Amino acid sequence: MSDILQISGLSKFYANGFHALKNINLNVHEAEILALLGPNGAGKTTLISTICGISRFSAGSVKMAGYDIVQQYRAARSLIGLVPQELALEPFETVENTLRFSRGLFGKEPDEGYLSSLLEALSLSDKKTSQIRTLSGGMKRRLSIAKALSHQPRLLFLDEPTAGVDVELRKDMWALVERLRASGVTIILTTHYIEEAEEMADRVGVINKGEIIVTESKNDLMRRFGKKELLLDLEEPINAVPRALSDW
Ligand code: ATP
Repeated sequence: MSDILQISGLSKFYANGFHALKNINLNVHEAEILALLGPNGAGKTTLISTICGISRFSAGSVKMAGYDIVQQYRAARSLIGLVPQELALEPFETVENTLRFSRGLFGKEPDEGYLSSLLEALSLSDKKTSQIRTLSGGMKRRLSIAKALSHQPRLLFLDEPTAGVDVELRKDMWALVERLRASGVTIILTTHYIEEAEEMADRVGVINKGEIIVTESKNDLMRRFGKKELLLDLEEPINAVPRALSDW
């Protein structure tokens, strides 16, 4: 399997001296779904921002499909789509213009057919000519995904895609991610929820205090850590395990 994203020795200090990313080494395979799991403040958004060129890194290198993210920024960035945690949409713009504009920003020729199919896939066709301010929160989130896909990237970042999203939409989102992957798009998503990683990802990277502490296939990780443990405090000592618990 070839690696579409190669991150080596990546470190990031913020201007106040805070060491937000510490020697990150991570290779992401083409057409896999990687979940970055970690608590608040672990560095997930910082990692995405540095890869997308929103934030500079202090040391290391990032290559997207072989292009250096600093030296060959345009080529590298045009292959990446980003759905940020905080949605950034223009309230008075229409849905269709948002997609056209975003596609144009990456220098892609117009393709109304592709943009229509995106809206269709995200159940937004009937909102095509609506202003964004008239959409519901869930629709805005879906539009944000359509916007990130408007220039046909090969890698999509979803920063907490299901935060504040109801169960129905969450399931739709999971199905959409699966379809995208089937079409060959590589997906990196961040989440706080182990269940989400379990549901969606092929591989899970756990990030804590700026360090990747484990990257493993979901199945191996679940096999190692997915065991349930029950601790019992006994009121009195016993000589033998009760029959009902003997199987355990
Ligand atoms: P969450 O799950 O809450 O979104 P996260 O894993 O995405 O968290 P980041 O937003 O990457 O975490 O933040 C990582 C650390 O970097 C935090 O301690 C945060 O306070 C710090 N940080 C983020 N932006 C800046 C900044 N501009 N200047 C200084 N420190 C920052």
